[in-house]
Amino acid sequence: MQPVIPDYLTEILGDVKSDTSGEPAGYIPELAAADPERLGVAFAMVDGQVYGVGDIDVEFTIQSISKPFTYALALADRGFDPVLAKVGVEPSGEAFNEISLESNTGRPLNPMINAGAITVHSLAGAEDLNSTERVERVVHGLSAFAGRRLTMDEAVCASEMEHAHRNLAIAHMLRSHNILTEDPRAVVDGYTRQCSVLVTTRDLAMMAATLANHGVNPLSGEQVVPEPVVRQVLSVMFSCGMYDAAGDWATQVGIPAKSGVAGGLIGALPGQIGIATFSPRLDSHGNSVRGVSLFERLSSDMGLHVMEVPATASAVVRSNHVVGSGPNALRVFQLQGGIGFAGAERIVREAVDTSPAEVRVVLDLTRVHSIDDVARRVLLEVARRLTLDGHEVYLVDPESIVPNPDPGDGGRVIVVDNVDQAMIPPHRVA
Ligand code: GLN
Repeated sequence: MQPVIPDYLTEILGDVKSDTSGEPAGYIPELAAADPERLGVAFAMVDGQVYGVGDIDVEFTIQSISKPFTYALALADRGFDPVLAKVGVEPSGEAFNEISLESNTGRPLNPMINAGAITVHSLAGAEDLNSTERVERVVHGLSAFAGRRLTMDEAVCASEMEHAHRNLAIAHMLRSHNILTEDPRAVVDGYTRQCSVLVTTRDLAMMAATLANHGVNPLSGEQVVPEPVVRQVLSVMFSCGMYDAAGDWATQVGIPAKSGVAGGLIGALPGQIGIATFSPRLDSHGNSVRGVSLFERLSSDMGLHVMEVPATASAVVRSNHVVGSGPNALRVFQLQGGIGFAGAERIVREAVDTSPAEVRVVLDLTRVHSIDDVARRVLLEVARRLTLDGHEVYLVDPESIVPNPDPGDGGRVIVVDNVDQAMIPPHRVA
């Protein structure tokens, strides 16, 4: 059988190819000279499988797509409080290079606009690093997200520095508010180097997949940043990643995303996929025109909007039946799928409504593939209350979905591998 996904990607690239609206970034000659016809799209699944069509192995500068990743590094290196004290998390609704800071504190509104990103660069790595070491920390971290060692485009970097008047103005303003504590020029230089890191569409998809995969790079298996950091970064990408187009993006596409002026665009769908597109012509917000179209199309064709309502939790209780008869009868609640809070609530209700007459009650997790923390606690509380009501509670859990179950205070569960084992009186279970 031929794989399905590359054909689909070829089809959607074909549909946007003829759109030549927008212009490549023109503020430095190196970017203005980009081949505007370049076009690529790549998917990286959270298990490392990559699908790509078009120019997915052409290198270009990462630019602002470095911002969420450097934010992740700063949060991981310094902790949340020191970073949040200097950079907010409020959407600004302004252009990426707007010279705006929170009026009372001087804090940049968020890490996705330049003021925030320049500050965040200064917070990557340990406090005592010099500027060269800090850049190395950032490049090393971006490389860990990509799963390969990334290099820098020195020509773009030098040219950006020659034209960095606006970013320098922002940095001086940040310095005057003591948000930056170092030489503003050195920080802008480091930030510009960060923006000049070369990536391919394939790399970007893998970087996004690392976010989608709770911070673990699907290729190397490395935990690049801790999970709470990933949640913070994805939230900020969702609300602020597309600058002044963030609201349109959140409603129409609904995927945490980040764009860069060289034409890259990434999206990370938690638990599922990292997506990247590349096409250098930009719209008035500085977002890739064909990239935005591709994401709109992908989101609606594939139901990728994060607010898409998931399959209903009512299916969690697959069946509720009695096995055997007489004093050995078992009341079996056969559960299935992934269980979160709403699924756990269904289980509680089923147990309460049934009010089992049988002494032995079985919670069968054989068909459950995942259970989150709150659902696990609710399930164990169900087991505890059943015990207190005089029941003998069995947990059928052959894959140890709930390892070392402890229902606490007066509760007791007997773990078995299948329902048949619960038919044997407990003293005979091995
Ligand atoms: N290097 C660019 C800047 O700071 C990056 C901006 C972007 O990609 N939006 O101006």
